[in-house]
Amino acid sequence: MTANLIDGNALARKIRAEVAGRTAALKAKGVQPALAIILVGEDPASQVYTKHKVNDSTETGLDATLERYPADMSEAQLLARIKTLNDDPAVHGILVQLPLPKHMDAHKVIETISPAKDVDGFHVASAGALMVGQPGFWPCTPYGCMKMLENIGYDLRGKHAVVIGRSNIVGKPMAMMLLQKNATVTICHSATKDLKAHTLQADVIVAAVGKRNMLTADMVKPGAVVIDVGMNRNDEGKLCGDVDFAGVNEVAGWITPVPGGVGPMTRAMLLVNTLEAAERAAG
Ligand code: NDP
Repeated sequence: MTANLIDGNALARKIRAEVAGRTAALKAKGVQPALAIILVGEDPASQVYTKHKVNDSTETGLDATLERYPADMSEAQLLARIKTLNDDPAVHGILVQLPLPKHMDAHKVIETISPAKDVDGFHVASAGALMVGQPGFWPCTPYGCMKMLENIGYDLRGKHAVVIGRSNIVGKPMAMMLLQKNATVTICHSATKDLKAHTLQADVIVAAVGKRNMLTADMVKPGAVVIDVGMNRNDEGKLCGDVDFAGVNEVAGWITPVPGGVGPMTRAMLLVNTLEAAERAAG
């Protein structure tokens, strides 16, 4: 059996079109949704990511501003800038690109963003809102994974989901979102004994580790849904995920590719969160 492909590019396109429509409606009411992106330093990957974020926003009618600061900017200066943006009613979303230079406390910086503008969903208030099922902003990567499951019409109720990875931005919020959809959730991590024994029981596996080929066909129950969050490089330097795609594709029922899976969905969900922030502010 060959798995059905979950096409993240196609779904992201559909979501961007929906965002564009809702943005146009908001603009007609006199509200221009706006995202402020802050990039400190010259990290090459961060420069690419922030450029994509600006382009995605502009293409859907959102107003995105990229503020670039030198790596030696002081933490106090950054906090002051965030506070100014918090107080600016014309700005609906604030995103500080991570990683930050080592002299800055990323946690302190993120906590300075107003929860109402926390479109990355990394603030403790956003994490808390997700935990208790209140409106907030969901982190874009797990939110994108949930949209993929929704799009294939997958009913999570009573299903067993195994999330591999427990970071604050992917694994933990992913597990919480699956739980809210009434899945039974197991979270695995580097200290998990016999990972395969867990994954073989799973109806849904989300791999968010950052290790190439860490999920192989012998670890997957036939027909399971496999979502690959990982971003790694293969021997040829090409982007690949955590899943041995060729092998798992023969066992799983559904599978996300890398590239073209979770990546574009993560980008699309930032637009959704920004629009949502503007809609909430508009009342
Ligand atoms: P982290 O490094 O923060 O977390 C990795 C997790 O994997 C940790 O919880 C770690 O366990 C666990 N882990 C490590 N080794 C094993 C193992 N052998 N077995 C089981 N679990 C293991 O990474 P992130 O969550 O930030 O990202 C994960 C991956 O997803 C990366 O490849 C990243 O590039 C990618 N990513 C992709 C995005 C996208 O848009 N497509 C967005 C964000 C991330 P422990 O906690 O015990 O250390």
